[in-house]
Amino acid sequence: MAELAKIYIAGEWTEGTGDTAHELVSPVTGEHLATVPIASAGDIDRAVAAARAAQDDFRHWSPFERADLCHRIAGAIDEIVEEVARIQTLEQGKPYHAESLEDIQEANQYFINAAEDIKRLGGEVIPTTDRSKRMFTFRRPVGVWAAITPWNFPVTIPLEYIGPGLAAGNAVIAKPPEFTSLALLKLAEAFDAAGVPKGLVSVIPGGGAVGDALVTHAGIDAIGFTGSTETGRKIISRMGIKRSIMEMSGNGPTIVADDADIAAAAVAAVYGAYYNAGQVCCATERVIVLDAVHDEFVEAALEASDVVRLGDPFDEGTTMGPLNNEPTAQKMDRHLADATDRGAEVLRGGGRAAGFPTALYYDFTVVDRVPEESLLSQEESFGPVLPILTASDDAEAAAMANRTRLGLQAAVFTDSLQKAFWYADRIRSGTVVVNDSTDFWETFQPFGGAAGTDTGWGRGRIEEFTDLQTLVIDVGTGDSQAQ
Ligand code: NAD
Repeated sequence: MAELAKIYIAGEWTEGTGDTAHELVSPVTGEHLATVPIASAGDIDRAVAAARAAQDDFRHWSPFERADLCHRIAGAIDEIVEEVARIQTLEQGKPYHAESLEDIQEANQYFINAAEDIKRLGGEVIPTTDRSKRMFTFRRPVGVWAAITPWNFPVTIPLEYIGPGLAAGNAVIAKPPEFTSLALLKLAEAFDAAGVPKGLVSVIPGGGAVGDALVTHAGIDAIGFTGSTETGRKIISRMGIKRSIMEMSGNGPTIVADDADIAAAAVAAVYGAYYNAGQVCCATERVIVLDAVHDEFVEAALEASDVVRLGDPFDEGTTMGPLNNEPTAQKMDRHLADATDRGAEVLRGGGRAAGFPTALYYDFTVVDRVPEESLLSQEESFGPVLPILTASDDAEAAAMANRTRLGLQAAVFTDSLQKAFWYADRIRSGTVVVNDSTDFWETFQPFGGAAGTDTGWGRGRIEEFTDLQTLVIDVGTGDSQAQ
């Protein structure tokens, strides 16, 4: 891997003109992977100017031409899947065979879905009171987007913006975090290979300062943000009048009702807690088990936990790699200490694992009798932990599920259709999954939070990347006043 990485600005591979850089160290091996240049204000201006110029022409491409471009990008991604997946594992930590490969194999879907959607996105013909007028609506591209994204899915989350963004005729400047930027930079080679017009997409790694420079830039029309609620609040207060999609934190409950298939619930809850080492916005952050089935569930969850093999993420048998970064590991330490101080009982794991190349390998942890007021229950832990809480009945379980600011994705286990609807009607959550993990996901799924912190994606994702334009034509019948 190159010692000094090149960033992708205005269709050129460059070291940028900034005087700072990030030394990227692998959470897997502890080795120095690359020096990543941090873009200067001048680099950002250049990317924005190139994006505006490229989009000025691109907006006139027909939807079918843009769909063809998306299909070419999807094909070019297919050529580099293994390499991108390998880099993603090295810089992010997720297991190569169990997760990273599948994640990147799915990356082309963001372009294929968008190519399909844009061909069917029509407008309306609206009746008027005035006989001489005809009224139509069109979907127009918004302009230049900044996509500010997190480190847990370093490639696919930016593509959630770049795919539909391009299909709808926009330019996109992607800003991944500096410490998980190499896989996306590698994937950006597919944009060149597919013939994406120069400047239409840039990839500018960096931290909060680069993100803020984009958020406040007069040349940016819209913000696509995926990250923590805390950062989202800052962005909302700084962006002024810009379009936005805000995808933020989750604290997804899994409810296990007393008529549930307990073994299935345990397998799904464990999966939702260890997949990507728990670093998923819709991870199983807390399990609320009805008292009557608590003991049975705990036993089943401990048994199901045997599937977790913490190890070298390049080994085929590994199902969980290290955490990505030290602040995330420290948050886990803090949440576990707080829960045990309040009387919770650690049944498995409970801290960092010894004997690995870095201190980021964390044992899969099962904690029982977690008090509701503990950090483990109240906050997003974003680590490999299964916190178990109990409720006396369905009403208490639903009330507990709703005592959160982060209602992104919830799960309910029950054998009764009636009960499934009862819970779905009551849980304030962007998605409620019945009889599967909170981690259930489709690339086209409407997705977003309730509880007021998340705007999310609607049913027609592609529409979010367009402005509605109304066209009114006087057809000159000369009887405009006639009613
Ligand atoms: P984060 O908020 O720290 O960072 C996200 C991005 O924002 C990064 O690119 C970061 O550099 C940038 N940023 C930081 N400060 C900024 C500022 N002041 N102005 C502009 N940009 C700024 O989040 P993270 O730790 O990278 O990611 C984890 C969080 O993301 C979790 O809370 C998780 O739930 C959430 N997430 C949500 C979804 C979803 O779809 N809802 C998906 C994945 C992750």
